[in-house]
Amino acid sequence: MSNFNWCHGPECHEKHTVDRVRGVKGSKVLRTRKIKLNNYNSGTQWEFFCSNHCQNDFWNKHARDIVAIAPRTECQETPIKDPQRTRQSNNWHSWYNTEIIVDESRQS
Ligand SMILES: [Zn+2]
Repeated sequence: MSNFNWCHGPECHEKHTVDRVRGVKGSKVLRTRKIKLNNYNSGTQWEFFCSNHCQNDFWNKHARDIVAIAPRTECQETPIKDPQRTRQSNNWHSWYNTEIIVDESRQS
């Protein structure tokens, strides 16, 4: 099993940064970034993307295909208790806080 992935950003290899430059003099290239798997990125989307920019590029190109895997055709709801609005204050100012509590008794 390999311990790295190539970045899945469709334009990763087109971004002008010096860390992407590879190859010998006279035939240099910009190469897709390699992502080493570690405790921080394993099990997250960062196994597959070197940056937010590359992740956004991937989403922009493939969102319709990805959403087709698990389409949402209707809304979902989480039952909650009636929200209680309370006035809070300190020495300088006051504000309202609305507490939202999930109603476990109505959870399916
Ligand atoms: Zn990338």
